[in-house]
Amino acid sequence: MRLIFMGPPGAGKGTQAAVVAERHGIPAISTGDIFRANVGQGTPLGLEAKRYMDAGEYVPDEVTNRMVADRLDEPDAEKGFLLDGYPRTVDQVAQLDGMLQARDASLDAVVVLTVDQDEIVQRLLQRAVTEGRADDTEDVIRRRQEVYLEQTAPLIDVYRERGLIHEVDGLGEVAEVTARILAALDAVAR
Ligand code: ADP
Repeated sequence: MRLIFMGPPGAGKGTQAAVVAERHGIPAISTGDIFRANVGQGTPLGLEAKRYMDAGEYVPDEVTNRMVADRLDEPDAEKGFLLDGYPRTVDQVAQLDGMLQARDASLDAVVVLTVDQDEIVQRLLQRAVTEGRADDTEDVIRRRQEVYLEQTAPLIDVYRERGLIHEVDGLGEVAEVTARILAALDAVAR
């Protein structure tokens, strides 16, 4: 399967993406994780991305698109993948369309995790304590939410027109949410 996970920062995408990808035997590809790994290793890509990430802004599309294209060329992504955190802009949607076309592939579903804004801020502040992410301060969280609403939320309509959107309630226990997502995907696979 070829899947996209969308949802506002803190919706629990990363947690769910890992579990769902494993169940489907496909790699979970998180652009945020790849950026963080590069920042950690101090690569040129990491140095470039860090400035944006620390401010809650998106990394420029050309940088992100090139990184995803390279990742999709790895053998484990040939039969399917779950993209977590990509695409996030209109340009990234167009670029992904091109990458899929070039590989003679198409998307099966776009899962949108829905959650309440207040719940999200609480989760992210909690994560700041447990994971120590540099972009989990209250100001940066607010900025990430704004950027999501401006640049990424409109993509839901783009994919809805293609009949790919599956909205799943992201509130509740992790296992409950996983069950909802897997049920939604079962319906797709049939
Ligand atoms: P969250 O969904 O919790 O905001 P992510 O781990 O997905 O966090 O992303 C962290 C940061 O990495 C983003 O705020 C952004 O700076 C950068 N990033 C991740 N994915 C993309 C993308 N597709 N396009 C541009 N920037 C991205």
